[in-house]
Amino acid sequence: MTIRVWDYLAEYENEHDDIIDAVEKVFRSGNLMLGASVRGFEEEFAAWHGIPHCVGVDNGTNAIKLGLQAMGIGPGDEVITVSNTAAPTVVAIDGVGAKPVFVDVREEDFLMDTTQVEAAITDKTRCLLPVHLYGQCVDMRPLRELAAKHNLLVMEDCAQAHGARQNGKLAGTMSDAAAFSFYPTKVLGAYGDGGATITANKDIARRLARLRYYGMDNHWGEQKRYYVVETPGHNSRLDEVHAEILRRKLTRLDKYIEDRRAIAQRYVEALSDTEIKLPRTAENNEHVYYIYVVRHPRRDEILERLKSYDIELNISYPWPVHTMTGFAHLGYEEGSLPVTEKLAKEIFSLPMYPSLSFDLQDKIISALREVLNTL
Ligand SMILES: *Cc1c(COP(=O)(O)O)cnc(C)c1O
Repeated sequence: MTIRVWDYLAEYENEHDDIIDAVEKVFRSGNLMLGASVRGFEEEFAAWHGIPHCVGVDNGTNAIKLGLQAMGIGPGDEVITVSNTAAPTVVAIDGVGAKPVFVDVREEDFLMDTTQVEAAITDKTRCLLPVHLYGQCVDMRPLRELAAKHNLLVMEDCAQAHGARQNGKLAGTMSDAAAFSFYPTKVLGAYGDGGATITANKDIARRLARLRYYGMDNHWGEQKRYYVVETPGHNSRLDEVHAEILRRKLTRLDKYIEDRRAIAQRYVEALSDTEIKLPRTAENNEHVYYIYVVRHPRRDEILERLKSYDIELNISYPWPVHTMTGFAHLGYEEGSLPVTEKLAKEIFSLPMYPSLSFDLQDKIISALREVLNTL
């Protein structure tokens, strides 16, 4: 049996009755779209963060895209982010017609190097978009200071950082708006696509709610004018079924994170004496280990030799976004983001998900140690 880098089947076994009950509840509710479950999840997810507003959407990419649009960002605007991210971060910026501008990342923790941001600001810059990559937060204080100084908006890409904290503050509560994905692999994952944007700004939330519903009012009781589009939007609704499943799983989010941390701790205990560089938690951060990314200069040889062990490993991500043909028009040469490019050649991810058993983890650890000994 292959050990997968991510797997939900053991978790589904444990939670089967609750998940099926959630599905059954929605199917019998008589209201399959934008009903009590979406609204309930939005309220609970907002409250979990201590933030007043949450708008559920169909995926994380659109949580970023509609969030940017709701903040008034569009053609002609520049958004500063990183190339060392999942491509959807950049696809979303591109999707509103804005231009993504990249800064490099820090070698120690793969996160946005905030010292490079000010030099990237131009008179077209409207927004800073840090990505809380792999489960920990970009240093937000310098970004907030730059945003105040240059009158910019800040959006956090929290697709990999549900429940992560910095200086005690939750990911998603340190900016104007924050986007989450509930893609199944994420720290809080649905059984299909889902996403949400949270914000303390009522106007952003209201515009977002319209944008996900063709541009028409919904869920905003005081101004019900259904069937009237003022600004054309999208169809980007979160499904009732996924919202109800997410409500159930939200009550277990702390436990999922605790389990991920225990697995990470075990990797540390078993692999610290090897040549593999293990993830480092940035200062004042509490990591949630969405992906367990390690590093070795002979990565490709290690992966090749591990093939015979039936262990699935992943590279997140093998090609930095600025080197992808789809973003060639942005004009980044190879070598322009040296740390990002170097990391892409050395990183790989070990299996990580809350229900990964000790037995399976032992197999992964001993396979890896064996392979390292033969290098
Ligand atoms: C997963 C992810 C997204 C996109 O989320 P989807 O739900 O797959 O659209 C965006 N940004 C980052 C950093 C992600 O990991």
